[in-house]
Amino acid sequence: MFHKNPALSQPWFIDAATDRAVTGTTIKYRVDGLAQGLRAKLALGMYASGLQSHRDCGITDVVALVSPNSVDFGMAIWASHKLGLTVASINGGATADELRHHFKLSGTRTIFAHIEALEKVIVAAQKSEIPLTRIVVISDEENFELPIEYADQGILTAEALIKLGHDQLTADPTTAVDVKMSPIAFLCFSSGTTGLPKAVVVPHRCIIANVNQVQSSAVPGSRLTAGDKSLGVIPFSHMFGLVTLVHLGPYLGIASVAFKTMPSFKNFLDIITRLRINHLFLAPPLVSAFVKHPATKAYDLSFLRTTMVAAAPLDSEMEGAFRKLGGPDFLVTQGFGMTECGGLITGLPMGSQPLPGSVGQLLPLTEAKIIDEEGKTLPPGSRGHLCVRGPQVCPGYLGNEKATKEAFDDEGYLLTGDIAHVSEEGYFHIVDRIKYMIKTKGYQVSPAELEAHLLGLESVEDAGVIGKPDERSGEVAVGFVVLSASGRARASTNPDAVKEEILRSIRDTKSEYKWLHDVHFIPAIPRLPSGKIIGKHLSAMLDGPKKEI
Ligand code: AMP
Repeated sequence: MFHKNPALSQPWFIDAATDRAVTGTTIKYRVDGLAQGLRAKLALGMYASGLQSHRDCGITDVVALVSPNSVDFGMAIWASHKLGLTVASINGGATADELRHHFKLSGTRTIFAHIEALEKVIVAAQKSEIPLTRIVVISDEENFELPIEYADQGILTAEALIKLGHDQLTADPTTAVDVKMSPIAFLCFSSGTTGLPKAVVVPHRCIIANVNQVQSSAVPGSRLTAGDKSLGVIPFSHMFGLVTLVHLGPYLGIASVAFKTMPSFKNFLDIITRLRINHLFLAPPLVSAFVKHPATKAYDLSFLRTTMVAAAPLDSEMEGAFRKLGGPDFLVTQGFGMTECGGLITGLPMGSQPLPGSVGQLLPLTEAKIIDEEGKTLPPGSRGHLCVRGPQVCPGYLGNEKATKEAFDDEGYLLTGDIAHVSEEGYFHIVDRIKYMIKTKGYQVSPAELEAHLLGLESVEDAGVIGKPDERSGEVAVGFVVLSASGRARASTNPDAVKEEILRSIRDTKSEYKWLHDVHFIPAIPRLPSGKIIGKHLSAMLDGPKKEI
């Protein structure tokens, strides 16, 4: 990231709340000190983890990064990479239960925690037997000081380690950490096409390939220049944000404006116009907010130059209405991406024009085929299962050979679980999803995860979860429950109390975007003889527009 990078003098990250800008040069200084300090204090980079699953794919040791979008996000990653470590990238909004699951799945031994996530991280670390002395706190404040109650427990700060590292470097420059390279850059979490969330193994080569593939396309290749700014609302921890905002931006000298939380829409528009954020990476619900929110009309957004929308479907009408908000040169494109694909698969290759409603064409060096149920490749224009192959596609899931094997066909194509068609000219349209996954506001929700939770409740005998179309979020999760004998007994006198108890149990343990919007009591969950839930039968029980599964 740093070697002779001409973009070093540019701000790489700006804090949306305070306007604090951090240049590449500052980040380099902080990365050097932090890597040195981590090695000195925690011996990071000096011992390899004993886990077989880690050794199998060349991982030496795993550091989790639990943070909302922050100006210190990249620093934590690059210091870890300098020491040859793999970063488990975890959403800062994850609950303590979810963190514990992610720590276990990834074999995390050290944690970078943003100060805002620290309380939950402590709870999860204690339950995961990770000593609190292996937690390193990051924040967005210059000269951040850790509250004494945490410092007393031996929790560290990045600031103290940076200082320790530079003191050591000043005393003896020959001790400088040599850049090591584990082949695996990240572990990201995805349920894939089925089942519970899994840790996707993301080699450096996939990120490097995807950054270059996206960079060489019309957005942002021909449009963005050093000094521009991009909107950092999509989570940096998600593959879409990791590629575009954390890596591509700094690579080009474009500052990612980090939003830790979403302000009111009016404040949001104020920030965009004040900072002249001219490049937007968005998920569809925010596109629809731009178009529909009454506040938008009061703002001149003619400085917008490009937008790439990905993560969930966006129809051509909404895309067209959004385009009208910018000036005549405003370029709006869609891209198709997936965690397992190491980022984006389609976009707008140089020289082509966007086609409204389409997710664009294949990025360089990427291949795709659309197959029928027998695995036969279909001609252009036919709907079928989208399968992709390319240097950005990740090799599989950590310690889960079965899921890895099922994810690919014999020719090495990744089965995306999405239904698509492609035109003669190579424009793709994503039209449906056959995988067992819900997308709400661009975030993945695994029905299997919520079903497993519901099945653990005393009042529940069987459960199914599906996505219901929703104007604001794209989809929301809805539960169907067969009550147990004790659940039925209680529901016979007060069904609302039982329902509320079920909804609350999810709210208490899961991230907000996973919360069930409703729960229905039914006599039996429709299943195939294999045990697989028949989602479309559940969907038929809902009022309003249906989502075929
Ligand atoms: P994730 O791994 O969280 O990025 O989710 C990947 C899934 O999001 C894909 O397999 C699709 O189902 C969906 N998705 C991503 N981009 C698009 C898009 N542009 N249009 C429709 N669905 C999309």
